[in-house]
Amino acid sequence: MDADIIIIGASPAGLMAARNASEKGADVLLLEKKTGIGHPPHPANSFFKGMLDRCGETVDPSYVVHYLKGMKIISPSGREVVVETPGYSIDKTKFDRFYAAKTEKAGVDLRTGIEVYNILKAGGEFSVSSSEGTFSSKLVIISDGINSKLAGLLGLKTMKYPQDLAWGIEMDIRAKDLGKPEMFEYYVGNHAPGWKTTYAPRGGDSAAIGAYVRRCGKDANPYLDAWVERFKKLKGLEEIEVVTKRYGGDPIVTIPNEFISDGVMVVGGAAGQSGLGYAMRAGQICGDVAAGAVKTGDVSKAALSEYRKNWEKEYRTEHYLGRIALETLRKMTDREIDEMVRVFEKEDLSFIHGSAFEQAMQVFMFMLKKKPSALLKYRAFLRNR
Ligand SMILES: Cc1cc2nc3c(=O)[nH]c(=O)nc-3n(C[C@H](O)[C@H](O)[C@H](O)COP(=O)(O)OP(=O)(O)OC[C@H]3O[C@@H](n4cnc5c(N)ncnc54)[C@H](O)[C@@H]3O)c2cc1C
Repeated sequence: MDADIIIIGASPAGLMAARNASEKGADVLLLEKKTGIGHPPHPANSFFKGMLDRCGETVDPSYVVHYLKGMKIISPSGREVVVETPGYSIDKTKFDRFYAAKTEKAGVDLRTGIEVYNILKAGGEFSVSSSEGTFSSKLVIISDGINSKLAGLLGLKTMKYPQDLAWGIEMDIRAKDLGKPEMFEYYVGNHAPGWKTTYAPRGGDSAAIGAYVRRCGKDANPYLDAWVERFKKLKGLEEIEVVTKRYGGDPIVTIPNEFISDGVMVVGGAAGQSGLGYAMRAGQICGDVAAGAVKTGDVSKAALSEYRKNWEKEYRTEHYLGRIALETLRKMTDREIDEMVRVFEKEDLSFIHGSAFEQAMQVFMFMLKKKPSALLKYRAFLRNR
């Protein structure tokens, strides 16, 4: 055996799974196809503190490029809901390297420039074939991201609603003082069907703007182009310099489905777990269960189901509520979105706290007191669109 556990993909999920499994005593080999960790970088560029808190991680200034005070959610007619919560614009390459270093320090054998092609099971062990030969292990964790081919090769349908994948583009841009504001901005409405356009200040003259859509094909370029023109008008800019443009898929509302089989676990984007913080926490849960399984010598699906159980305890409700919210948004008219945002406009929303379910109930009660008729807008969820 080359290792107890082979992990494929040094994604945020894969790195955390590797670190936790190694810290709990497993011998871990982590294979990554990029020749350098975090390069070329993934388009993700920001997160909010609460997401890392749930992983028990503290934010490290080494990868932060700009500190944010919170976010504004902006309706089609420009109404704003302000949510104050500490956030961070990050250098994703530095972020990945920060976690890769922690993972190696925990004893993981991290090897880059190795692309995995296939996973075969023979007897009680796995053969992982790659560009650098074949490796063997008792257990395999697949964390190869949203374009995962390996989970599919093993017959796993990892997402319940794969047709609802969001496709997005992030563009790093420069214009005088564009990076100075301290609020992240999300724009919702039919200009970005199914999700959002964004503006993330990144300090000084740097910012990132993005467009994310669902059920509109994989090419979000037309939505980004329209967003660039609107953004220039909104910010009074004649020209912007485009520095980089990066594409990708985000499984935000696809809902994790089959992500475990005998000796195999799938985690992160490959399993329909979206977002840096969610992928990292799922990686921790997965790594802990994997280490326990190799220690007891039972890597059966039944034993590994502890991963599903623990993940569901923390995240199932949140994922379903998130799906209901984004599906409702996708089906609402711009006018309905404006009317709903009006209920929250200029309100202090700091009372919202607790689990996702508790938060949803607090929002529901708030709307019920403030403007019960606005709740009718949620009927949009039942529309056949
Ligand atoms: C445009 C865009 C912007 C986003 N912005 C944000 C954001 O700002 N904040 C946020 O929280 N989330 C954001 N997300 C979502 C978030 O980035 C992902 O959910 C997160 O990166 C989790 O991805 P992952 O860990 O599953 O995999 P990834 O980060 O995609 O990593 C997969 C890794 O596996 C490696 N790999 C793939 N195949 C193989 C193979 N066969 N062999 C070996 N290695 C392999 C890849 O090289 C890669 O390193 C964004 C998503 C998109 C598409």
